Amino acid sequence: MKLFNAGLKKTISDLNSAIELLNKRINNLEDENIRMHTILNSMVEGVILVDADSRVLSLNPTAENIFNISKKNVLGIFFLEAFPNNDIAEIIAQVLKIGEVVSRELVLVWPMQKVFQVNASPLFKSGIINGCLLVIHDITEIRLLETMRRDFVANVSHELKTPLTSIKGFVETLLEGAMEDKENSINFLKIIDNHTDRLNTLINDLLDLSHIESKEIVLNKDKFVLAGLVNEVVMGFKSQTKKRGIEVKFDLPPGLEILADKSKIEQVLVNFISNAIKYNKDKGFVRIYSEQLADKIKIVVEDSGSGIPAKDIPRIFERFYRVDKARSRELGGTGLGLSIVKHIIELHSGSVGVESVEGLGSKFWFTIPNLI
Ligand code: ADP
Repeated sequence: MKLFNAGLKKTISDLNSAIELLNKRINNLEDENIRMHTILNSMVEGVILVDADSRVLSLNPTAENIFNISKKNVLGIFFLEAFPNNDIAEIIAQVLKIGEVVSRELVLVWPMQKVFQVNASPLFKSGIINGCLLVIHDITEIRLLETMRRDFVANVSHELKTPLTSIKGFVETLLEGAMEDKENSINFLKIIDNHTDRLNTLINDLLDLSHIESKEIVLNKDKFVLAGLVNEVVMGFKSQTKKRGIEVKFDLPPGLEILADKSKIEQVLVNFISNAIKYNKDKGFVRIYSEQLADKIKIVVEDSGSGIPAKDIPRIFERFYRVDKARSRELGGTGLGLSIVKHIIELHSGSVGVESVEGLGSKFWFTIPNLI
C-alpha cells in the first residue's frame, strides 16, 4: 500500500510538472502570437499568407487597405477569388512550384492605380512547400518622384541646350567670315547677347528654386507697408508699360502692413506683375488690390491679358509648365517663375492661386497670414 501511495505521489508530481511546463509553453506561444500580431499590424507593407493550395490563411491591415477588402471575407478562400489580380496569383503559383523567392514590380489598376514591389517567399514544412508569404510594398510615391526628377533634368537640359546651340551657331558663322560684314555681325552679336541673358536668367531661376526647395532657407521677416513695396515694383516696369500703353493701378490700404521677408515678397510681386504685363495686350490694364479675409490678407494681381485655358490652370504653378512655350521663350520666360512664387508663399504659410478666363484675363493671388 505504501509503495502504491509513493507511486501515485510521483505520478501526480510528474503530472503537475508536465502541466506547469505546458502552461509555460502556452504562455510563451501566446506571447509570441501577440508579438507577431503587433509586428504584422504595424507593418507599412501588406502581408498575405497562403497555403499550398493558394488559400488565404492570413493578412495584415495594410493588405486589407491596399486591396480594399475585409480579412473576414477572404480567409480560407482561394487567392484569386479573394483578390482579382492575375499577376500576383501567377507569382504565388510560381513560388509554390519552384520553391524559390520571386520579386516583381507590378502596376495595379485595382482598386486604384498604384505601383507595388511584390516579394513572395515559399514556406516549408519537413522539406515540403506548404505555403507562400507575400510582402507587398507600395512604391508609387518613389516612382513618381523618380519620374519628376527625370523630367526635371530633361527640361533643364533642353532649356540650356536651346540658347547654347544658337550661340554656337552664330559664333561659327561669325568665325567663318560673317565678321567682315559689320552690320550683320552686330545683329549676330545682339542675338548672342540675348541668348546669354536667357541662360543667365535660367541659371539664376534654377539656383533660386533649388535654394528655396532645399528648406535651408531662412526668412528675414519684418513688418512693412505693402503699398510702398508694390509702388517700388510697379515703378520698375514703368518704361515697359509706357511703351505698350498698359495702365497699372493699385488700390491698397495705405496703412496695410504685413510681416514677411520683404525681398522674397518683392520677388513674388515682380513675377506676378511682370507676367501680367508680358501676357497682356497693348493698351490693356493691370490692377493690384487686397482683400481682408478672416485670418489672412489676399493680394490680387489682375490683368486684361490672354488668360489661361481651363485645362492648364491646375498645372500652371508646376516647374517649367507653360501654356505657350514658344511665346514664353520669346518674352524671355523660363517657366520657373510661378513655381518659385508658390514655394516662397508656402514658406510664409500662405497659399497661391489663379482665376482666369481664356481671352479675357487672369487674377493671380497669394495670401499672407494676418499680423498678430
Ligand atoms: P514664364 O517664365 O514662362 O512666364 P511662369 O512660371 O512665370 O513662367 O509662368 C508660367 C506660364 O503661365 C507662362 O508661360 C504663361 O503661359 C502662364 N502665365 C503666367 N502668368 C500669366 C498671365 N498673367 N496671363 C496669362 N498667362 C500667364
